[in-house]
Amino acid sequence: MDYAITPPPQPSLPIQGSALRFPVRRIFCIGRNYAEHAKEMGAAVEAGRPMFFCKPADAVVADGADVPYPSATADLHHEVEMVLALGAGGHDVPVERAAALVWGVGVGLDLTRRDLQAQAKAKGHPWDVAKAFDHSAPVSALHPLAGSLPGPDTGLRLHVNGTLRQQARLGEMIHDVPHILAALSTLFELKPGDLVFTGTPAGVAALARGDHFHAELNGIATLDGRIA
Ligand code: MN
Repeated sequence: MDYAITPPPQPSLPIQGSALRFPVRRIFCIGRNYAEHAKEMGAAVEAGRPMFFCKPADAVVADGADVPYPSATADLHHEVEMVLALGAGGHDVPVERAAALVWGVGVGLDLTRRDLQAQAKAKGHPWDVAKAFDHSAPVSALHPLAGSLPGPDTGLRLHVNGTLRQQARLGEMIHDVPHILAALSTLFELKPGDLVFTGTPAGVAALARGDHFHAELNGIATLDGRIA
């Protein structure tokens, strides 16, 4: 195939213990999946249909790399989240078959221009400029799953400059992994290479230039980086 311009590179993430890389196709994110975070954002806690948004695949930033402070915001926020990496896809996937789509897991930050998100919410505008900007998705090296998903007591944590900012157990999620994937697959045909951010607990706050972040999915994956 000959292209009119140079084809863009395939975004990808490293894999723990492997020289192979995971090719990233799309990035889906769920909103308001921990009750205490929904409350701190002034949103109702709803157990009904999950709310989703997207980031472009090339928003990923690998572990250890600097994240440039984005343009057009004075309120860049961190949201630490477990990230699913899908090795299989499908549409209308039944809840009981959804966990089998997950090839691996990692930990990531759903970076957010909180000021632009507040403006979008107030005006009923889409969230793209608040969520889908360049370098808005730092993600750890991926941990290939050997069977089951991380259990409900697995800890999710974020430290900034050594201070604990966010902490939760995965069991605190309103929608668990099978229900997230089943619901998402009614809206999009899921494909291998898709990443899914599974929502953030309470404690979201601002990041400044020079801040060091350390995110962990306890015993499974860690992510370090710096806001440049
Ligand atoms: Mn989020």
